[in-house]
Amino acid sequence: MYSVNIDPWKCSGCLECVDVCGPGALTEQRQNSTVLASLQNEFEFLSKTHNTPVRFWENATRPGGDAKRLILDHDNYYAMTGGHGACRGCGEVTAIRMLMATNRAIHEKKRMDHIRELEGLTEGLGAKMDRVPHDDNDPGRLERMRQTRRTLETRLYRFESGPTGRGPAGAAIANATGCSSVYASTFPNNPYTDPWVNSLFQDAVPVAKGIFEGLSASAVEDFRALRSAKLDLEDHYNPEIHDGFFRTFDWEQFSEEELGLLPAVISMGGDGATYDIGFGALSRLLVTATPIKVVVLNTGAYSNTGGQTSTASFTAQDSDLTRFGVAHIGKHEDRKELGLIAAFHPKVLVIQTNAALQGHFMKNVMEFLTYNASPALLDTYTTCQSEHGIADDAGSRRAGLAVESRMSPVFVHDPRRGDTLAERFSLDGNPDIGKDWTMTTLEYLDDNGQARLKEIPFTPADFALHEGRFKKHFHAAGGSDDLVPVNKYIELRVEERHDKTPFVWSTDADRKLVRLAVSTAIVDLTEERRRNWRMLEYLSGLHVDRMQESHHQELEQWQQRYQQSNTDRENSIDSIARGMAELASTSGAPASSGTQALPLSEITTTLGGTALSEVGAGGGDSVLVEITEDDMATCTNCKTCYQDLSELFEKTKIMVDGAPREVGRVIPGVLERTEITSELIQRASRVADDCDAEIIRFHRPN
Ligand code: SF4
Ligand code: SF4
Ligand code: SF4
Repeated sequence: MYSVNIDPWKCSGCLECVDVCGPGALTEQRQNSTVLASLQNEFEFLSKTHNTPVRFWENATRPGGDAKRLILDHDNYYAMTGGHGACRGCGEVTAIRMLMATNRAIHEKKRMDHIRELEGLTEGLGAKMDRVPHDDNDPGRLERMRQTRRTLETRLYRFESGPTGRGPAGAAIANATGCSSVYASTFPNNPYTDPWVNSLFQDAVPVAKGIFEGLSASAVEDFRALRSAKLDLEDHYNPEIHDGFFRTFDWEQFSEEELGLLPAVISMGGDGATYDIGFGALSRLLVTATPIKVVVLNTGAYSNTGGQTSTASFTAQDSDLTRFGVAHIGKHEDRKELGLIAAFHPKVLVIQTNAALQGHFMKNVMEFLTYNASPALLDTYTTCQSEHGIADDAGSRRAGLAVESRMSPVFVHDPRRGDTLAERFSLDGNPDIGKDWTMTTLEYLDDNGQARLKEIPFTPADFALHEGRFKKHFHAAGGSDDLVPVNKYIELRVEERHDKTPFVWSTDADRKLVRLAVSTAIVDLTEERRRNWRMLEYLSGLHVDRMQESHHQELEQWQQRYQQSNTDRENSIDSIARGMAELASTSGAPASSGTQALPLSEITTTLGGTALSEVGAGGGDSVLVEITEDDMATCTNCKTCYQDLSELFEKTKIMVDGAPREVGRVIPGVLERTEITSELIQRASRVADDCDAEIIRFHRPN
């Protein structure tokens, strides 16, 4: 049975689900007593049905698995219970629910594995104690094993059920004051099923550090017992070495595995708390090895204060509480890049992501929650409907567009991937890496009232046009203005910009195409975001890739020239041979074929062909993935292909039955220029399996 039900006790009516699921999947309905009763009946029935069978989500936490599926397990979904007190459609609550569901899935798997380990150790110790002989060098061995076994049995009880009946908590959360603390703490209710405490704006990180120190101190005895049990079972415990070691044993000597057995200690806060007021404390944490997970719910709007600019706010952004009238240009400073600051601490895992890219978000949240070598930072772009000036149902849509427009690109800095920045930085998840802008499609009506599509570069200015916080920067362009599209305008030198007006394309109330002039502040924003994107590209090694690409092109040109010169030479040998044969026939001498060009021709063709086909590993006859034009019309826009494999797929708009429709497609020509690695094959195969409309044809290369 497949069923989608709405919980009528918690639905706030934002309609984001209708937007995210796409046309025809869900529809809005005005609530009345009949609708409510029917929704309640359906939901109560659903609550009594079995959990989703394990086979549908068991690979979710495995490497390469489909992380999104973990939410199918009811227990994971209810890692947070109740509704929330946030504004309708708030992007923060989606991010938090997905974070806590992921943590619960990881924790539950670890808990079950650890229970099996503890059962094995306690049984092993019991059996061993019966046959341990007295040893003058270790007279206390039997008593130590008894004590160790008691400690492990207590731990086993706590992991199997403990006082709560649910085993130990999977997380402990220190929440800075802000929206996330307010909507989560409507006394006496709280949606978290894990311990949660609220502190001041600036204190979440220090409180988390205190919680971590307390939890790890109380785990010392258990981890000593775990290690001691293993040593005694292998007859490797040496009192002279180990008694002293365990006397001063503390968390800095815990193994990664042991650290993974502690609840995830999460510091949570908004941009005001983390970028600004609590920045000093965060900075201190980043140079330690304390494995605290720092979550930034980044609205860039200091939302809980009623809206101010923070250092995370964008250039040109207006805020409710820092407004100086229409003449003011909004924020004039550049944005602080907290993720980059953190990434320049070589051991810190940094993830800048966004819950609209569900696959990217959940896969990387899994890395974030299980990384224990050092602190980890998760900076997630979240919409704030009131401070961004967007509709209640627009959270996911706008967050996705923030990535596409380069306003808030996603990236990962993972210290485990290598020593160089290029190895550690990944921009996977962003569209059109290597280009300043991706393209988008504008729908409009032509003079005959026909629906038309226009392809335009999607810049931060195009993004800003649709949010209230940037509203005052756009005006109808005058008829006599010398208009230049903003993406071209920023390419001009300052002196060339004189008398020119930058603009963006839009549509008016009648859906006719219009041009809107943009302010200098929006020009600054566009330039600043492009600088940031280029910096990320540089850090991810794109300059190296570009150098290799240009070297590769040069090599290809030389090979073509070499082949051409051989062909020319071959032709001239052919004509000499022909001339000699003619001469011989006219003179009566025997014809010789010793200088025929055939062998030379074979050699040069083979040499050239081999080199070229090796270089173009993605080309040739193999088409790894394809979507036919007919099939494209049936795409349900589930977003899986272009979000999870943006190297090969992209979003586009096509006309279906006279109406524009957003669909996924294979990027034209991409397979000829992409190196087909085994990792790419694996990912492409998974994306094809997960295609909602089942229209991606996957061909495994031989
Ligand atoms: S997304 Fe909004 S409208 Fe849809 S079920 Fe959730 S709260 Fe209700
Ligand atoms: S003010 Fe903004 S961030 Fe705060 S709860 Fe409302 S929508 Fe969410
Ligand atoms: S092609 Fe398939 S995977 Fe891609 S958006 Fe459409 S339905 Fe989803």
